[in-house]
Formats: sequence, structure tokens, C-alpha cells
Amino acid sequence: MLYLALIILIVAIVLLWQSGRQRKQAGLPGGRVIYTDTRAWGEVDKALYDHALGLTGKPDYLVEQDGQIIPVEVKSGRTPEAPYDSHIFQVGAYCLLVEKAYGKRPPYGIIHYPKRDFAVDYTTELESALMEQLAEMRRDGMRQDVPRSHDEPARCQSCGFRKVCDQKL
Ligand code: SF4
Repeated sequence: MLYLALIILIVAIVLLWQSGRQRKQAGLPGGRVIYTDTRAWGEVDKALYDHALGLTGKPDYLVEQDGQIIPVEVKSGRTPEAPYDSHIFQVGAYCLLVEKAYGKRPPYGIIHYPKRDFAVDYTTELESALMEQLAEMRRDGMRQDVPRSHDEPARCQSCGFRKVCDQKL
């Protein structure tokens, strides 16, 4: 389970760092503003897991619309003009996990910010970018000598790997 937790945490960190570059390269969807009825949202009991990819994640909600199962990710804090790239990747990962778990490909996922909701289309481009990230992550995971990629003590202060990291600042 520790391995799985590390995987999902690393996904979030790596995607956050690299999302700007990836989005430009992959032509990721930007997100459409939509109206949503939160009464239809159902909480998710347990995390979704895909053994082959070594990926796990738990959307905040799943909603059934026209026979499709749509993952919903709820974000607090400032509502951006457009979804952050890291959030696009995250909801894309949930779409992937929903497809694996239920055998139906969600056409999009929803990011719910305090003041606005966005639909992020689960395009083949988004899926490809995600798979590339996972492959890259697995390659890095096999390495013994992954160097620290920043000089920000504040980042290390709040890092979950601080206790075991020999490069912390
Ligand atoms: S403690 Fe610092 S260097 Fe180590 S993994 Fe965390 S952020 Fe990176």
C-alpha cells in the first residue's frame, strides 16, 4: 500500500512540475465551463485501482449522466479562469481509472472549483500525455540516483517524503 500511495503522490508532484510543458506539447483540453447539479453526485466509497498501470486514485464524486460515469474532482481555494494543468491531468487520470473499473470511457471529467465548474474532455491526447507521464515516472522510480530538482526549502518543509529523503533542504 505504501508503494501505491507513493505512486499517486509522485504522479501529482511530477504532473504539477511538468504540466505546462506537456500541455503545450500535447494540445491538452482547456476545460469548458458547465452547469452541474451537485444533487446527482455520489460519493466514492473506495479508491479505484489499475494493477497494470500501478495507478490508484479516488475521485471526490462519480455522477451518472446518459449512461456514462463521470468523475468529479472538487478543488478549494481560488477559482481560476481556466483549470490548472495539474488538475486537468488529475481528472484525466480519474477518467482513465473509471474506464478501467467500469468498462466505459467517460467523455469528460468535471473539476468543481468554488465559483465555477469545468468539463475537461477526456481526449486521446490527454490520455496519451498521461500514459507518457506514467511511463516516465516508472522509469524514474527504478533509478537510485534521482536528483533533487529544486532549491526551495519551503517545498521540502511540507513534503511527505521528508523523513526518508536524503536530499531534503
Ligand atoms: S524532501 Fe525535498 S528534496 Fe526530498 S522529495 Fe521532498 S521536496 Fe524533494
